[in-house]
Amino acid sequence: MARFDPEASLRLRALPEYEALDDSDALIARYGLDPAQVIKIDGNENPFGPSPRTLEALRQGYRAEWYPDERQQALRTALAKYVEVSPECVVAGSGSDELIDQVFRMYLGQGDRIVLVSPTFGMYAFDASLHGVEVEAVPLLDDFSFDDDALVRAAAGAKAVFIPSPNNPTGGLLEPELLQRILDTGTLLVVDEAYIEFSDAPSYARRAATETGLIVLRTLSKWGGLAGLRIGYGVMEARTADLFMRAKQPYNINAAAEVAALASLEDAAVLDERAQTIVRERERVSAALARLEWIAPVPSQANFVLLHLAHGDGMSVRDALRARGIFTRAYKSPRLHEYLRISMGTPEQNDRVIAAFAEVGEELAHG
Ligand code: PMP
Repeated sequence: MARFDPEASLRLRALPEYEALDDSDALIARYGLDPAQVIKIDGNENPFGPSPRTLEALRQGYRAEWYPDERQQALRTALAKYVEVSPECVVAGSGSDELIDQVFRMYLGQGDRIVLVSPTFGMYAFDASLHGVEVEAVPLLDDFSFDDDALVRAAAGAKAVFIPSPNNPTGGLLEPELLQRILDTGTLLVVDEAYIEFSDAPSYARRAATETGLIVLRTLSKWGGLAGLRIGYGVMEARTADLFMRAKQPYNINAAAEVAALASLEDAAVLDERAQTIVRERERVSAALARLEWIAPVPSQANFVLLHLAHGDGMSVRDALRARGIFTRAYKSPRLHEYLRISMGTPEQNDRVIAAFAEVGEELAHG
């Protein structure tokens, strides 16, 4: 009898590629860094961490020995109140990543086509690859704005369109006119609002509660400083949400994440204030880096900024900054070869980041 062959038996046509973050502890060891001095601005995380009430709630504890509520009742109620929709329109996921995957599991398979912008967040293509779904990537224009006409043309006949607003890594927003044109093609539109709290645009979440064909994804990873606990949510019509609730993994929200999310929503005012600090820092850091002349920041509505580098490439500047204990994000893709993405640290950290860029600039110009 032939034995099980793990590769030959695979139902996946291709294994996906996702450029996940390098492990920080490994980088600290490799560069011989002091962990307390490291500035981690490679993952668009929140430099202030969880809110005070969240930390207190986690310290108070939770029933780790019990399965969490499969119906997510307390969580859906609190999330619904926060985004001003009814609880029947909300589904929580283990990060918005899980909900992206759930959209694929429920609606997309072999023979389907989805539309993305390029460059964008890597998870949509990752899941498309897992599920055998064809990807049509519509390049952003030279200034990284959306190519509206090309997107609408591509959306026609596509099963779904995934657009982050603000987009990662470019920071631009999906405007209401384009959203309407895409919906009018009859496709499913998933608007990923992971960074919406840092923008001056209103969320489309309330609209998603009543509009068939629109799903809005949100997360506590960025605004809430909970990236490590994995908690995101989707807002959609009640009918769609009901299907999501029935098809999700039953106990997908772990007990710690639930406690932390509930406390974060009670601390929304603190988290909003921190988001505003991050927005002010984004403008301050962008202006300071623009003065260095070899750096041109792309205007952003998120908690990160994409930087065009006139000297060197993204990878070499990333490495020079790593040696100084600053972790940033560079890209393999040819279009982003001369770019680096940084998210905002605390104001004190950002001062160090600005100084380090100045130093690296000198090094690259003279040495
Ligand atoms: N969407 C976008 C656009 C993102 O950039 C990220 C995180 N990098 C996510 C979703 C994932 O968020 P979560 O931590 O909620 O899975």
